[in-house]
Amino acid sequence: MTLMEECEDGVPEYVKRGAKSEPISSKKLAKLIASGRAVIPCNPIHDPMPKAIGEGLKVKINVNLGTSKDNEDVGMELEKLQAAERYGADAVMDLSTGGDIDEIRKRVIDATDLPIGSVPIYQCGLEMARKDALIDMSSDDMFNSIRKHAEDGIDFVTVHCGVTLEVVDKLLRSKRITDVVSRGGSFLTAWILHHRQENPLYKEFDYLLEIAREYDLTLSLGDGLRPGSIADATDRPQIQELIVLGELVDRSREAKVQAMVEGPGHVPLDQVAANVKLEKQLCKGAPFYVLGPLVTDFAPGYDHISGAIGGALAAYNGADFLCYVTPAEHLGLPDVDDVIEGVIASKIAAHAADLAKGIDTDIDLEVSKARKELNWETMFDKVVDPDKARRFRKEKNVGEEEACSMCGDVCAIKLLKKFLE
Ligand code: SF4
Repeated sequence: MTLMEECEDGVPEYVKRGAKSEPISSKKLAKLIASGRAVIPCNPIHDPMPKAIGEGLKVKINVNLGTSKDNEDVGMELEKLQAAERYGADAVMDLSTGGDIDEIRKRVIDATDLPIGSVPIYQCGLEMARKDALIDMSSDDMFNSIRKHAEDGIDFVTVHCGVTLEVVDKLLRSKRITDVVSRGGSFLTAWILHHRQENPLYKEFDYLLEIAREYDLTLSLGDGLRPGSIADATDRPQIQELIVLGELVDRSREAKVQAMVEGPGHVPLDQVAANVKLEKQLCKGAPFYVLGPLVTDFAPGYDHISGAIGGALAAYNGADFLCYVTPAEHLGLPDVDDVIEGVIASKIAAHAADLAKGIDTDIDLEVSKARKELNWETMFDKVVDPDKARRFRKEKNVGEEEACSMCGDVCAIKLLKKFLE
């Protein structure tokens, strides 16, 4: 029985645990899961802590980790994982492409109780691409890699089922600046263009659902043609793929398989809300997992800020799950410090959206009260990055104990306090 089926019959214990930190009741959460408007990724082989994603819930954030051909150090990835957990990640995706990928995946799964996602086609596509045989990748190769990840305990998988012949035709007729920026999307587009055959992940979607049912895998329906530049945002290939993903959401729900939908990418501010509304409409309220979105292309080195601006606006308008972006985006593999900056930026975006929806407002109230009291330690205990706040307080203040060096002896709070008292 999948979690969706269990939720049709009542409120599973696991869902009760997941609802504890949410603004809705466990009964309501179970109903949302049964209807496909919320998911809790949970492969019983891994049995992660329940993190509910979807309608009416707190916005969650995902952190991508993973080795590359130039950096195969699994120890470094585990360090990033610990940092991500410390700063509040809700889920982690292992996107390793270097070293012993199977071994790294197992070590990441063993190292955390957070739900873990992966993109199985990276592994099978890369193995073939490195032999210069990408287009020889068979349907069995694709499905076997998904099964292998599920057997290891992966909780959710990105599957680019929406990159169909028709969608690729739309791409060919469009005048995109950046054709395909999704790695999985590029593998499948190349495969389709060479064979002129339908994407096996779409054609044999029923088989994918069978595997997903067997392991209670959550499908993250990937946007292989997401825009990779502002100029390409909300274009026909992107929307055509989203229409296909909406149909696949219906089929996932019929099979009682949890599904969420991935979204862009690069989107200017004025199109962010429209992108969320389109997804919610075309995919009948399926949880929306956005990659950023980045609101400008001109900020390499600061893309975590660009992503947080887009993420906050997307989440305020109904996106449910934000994939973090680090300062190293578009430039190189992030290190531990980049991961921390990315998580914090995403966390602020998620919290800002929750706050505007009336969720978790007490945190800000407590910080404000401590600020008014000039009670620095109480404030530091509540904030997103206590270490940095404490370091700044220590480094930037000489000899002024109560106020700070911003205004010093004309500290507005301190001055008025005397009169108010
Ligand atoms: S010195 Fe200025 S910035 Fe610092 S606590 Fe007082 S009012 Fe705030």
